[in-house]
Amino acid sequence: MAELPEDAGGPSGPGRSAKETVAFIGLGIMGGPMAICLLRAGHSVIGFNRSPEKTERLSSAGGTAAGSIAEAAANADVVITMLPDSPDVEHAVMGAGGVLAHLRPGGLLIDMSTVHPRTARLIAREGEALGIDVLDAPVSGGEQGAVTGTLSIMVGGPVEAFARAGPVLSALGTTVVHVGPSGAGQIVKAANQMVVAGTLELLGEALIFLEAWDVDRELAVQVLAGGLAGSQVLDRKAAPMLARQFDPGFRIELHHKDLGIAMDAARQAGISLPVGALVAQLMGAARAQGLGELDHSALLVVLEALSGLSPGDLTPS
Ligand code: NAD
Repeated sequence: MAELPEDAGGPSGPGRSAKETVAFIGLGIMGGPMAICLLRAGHSVIGFNRSPEKTERLSSAGGTAAGSIAEAAANADVVITMLPDSPDVEHAVMGAGGVLAHLRPGGLLIDMSTVHPRTARLIAREGEALGIDVLDAPVSGGEQGAVTGTLSIMVGGPVEAFARAGPVLSALGTTVVHVGPSGAGQIVKAANQMVVAGTLELLGEALIFLEAWDVDRELAVQVLAGGLAGSQVLDRKAAPMLARQFDPGFRIELHHKDLGIAMDAARQAGISLPVGALVAQLMGAARAQGLGELDHSALLVVLEALSGLSPGDLTPS
C-alpha cells in the first residue's frame, strides 16, 4: 500500500509542475465538477459526454469539448473515465471508437467509475497489451467531494502508473491510496459501499424509532453525531432525510449496482455477508418501488413502508 507523497499536489511540490492534457469521459454529477478541479490545478482538459450539453460548463471554465471519445483520447496524455456502470466503461474503453483504440502507447487510462473488479482487470490486460497503463481509481466523498477536490481515491494497478498519476489524482482527492494490483481499488470501493449503505439503513431505522417515541429528531441527531454513532453519513444525510429532500447526490440506481458488485464478488470469494445481503435487498426494493433516480437516502421511504408508515407520516421537523 502506498499513499501519494505530500508534494504530489502541494502548491509548491514537484508534482504540481507536471501538467497533463487530460481527456475526461463522462461529465455527470461527479465527472462534471472533477473536470473543473483538474482545470483549476492547471491541467488542460478535453471533455466528452454522451449528452453534449454537459460539456458546456467545462467549456466556459476554460476546457475544450470533444465530439467523440476518439477525438478526446487521441489528443490526451491521460484519459479519465467517470461513467455509470461496467458495460458503459467496457464500451467506452474497448469499443471500436473507444479509448484504447485512440490513446497513444505510453498513455495512461484512469477509470474512476465504480465497476466490477472483473472489468477493471480486463481493461488493464487489454491496455497492457497496447503499452497503455491502466489504473482503477474509484472514489468516495460524493458530489461535495467532487466539487471541492477532496475525494477519497482507492487505486489499483501498477505502482509506477500510480506514481505517474499523482499530479492528476491529487487535484481530485485529499486521500489517495494505492491499495494493490488491478481490481483492488474496486474491491475496496465495494467494501465502502456496503458500509455506507448499512449505515444509511440503520440511520433510517433510528429516525423511524425516534419518531415513534415522539423524540425531537434534530436534537437526537445532534447528540448522536457527537458520540460513537457519529459518522459522515450521519453528518451529511440526516438533515436531508428529515427534510425529505431526496434530490441526488448518489442515485439509488447506482448504489443498487454497487451492492450487486459487492454480492457477486463475495460469492466469487466464497464468503458470507448476511447484513450486506439484506441491505442490498432493501436497496433493490427501493429501486423496484420506482425510487431509482432519487438519492440513496430515500432508502428511508422503504423502511417507513415496513413499519406501515406512509411518507406523510414522517413530516419534516
Ligand atoms: P451520472 O449518471 O451523473 O454521470 C454519468 C455521465 O456519463 C452522464 O453525464 C452520462 O451522460 C455520461 N455517459 C454515459 N455513458 C456515456 C458514454 N458512453 N460516453 C460518454 N458519456 C457517457 O453518474 P455519477 O453520479 O457522476 O457517477 C459516475 C460514477 O461514479 C458511477 O460509477 C458511480 O457509481 C460513481 N460514484 C458516484 C458518486 C456520487 O455521489 N454520485 C460517488 C462515488 C462514486
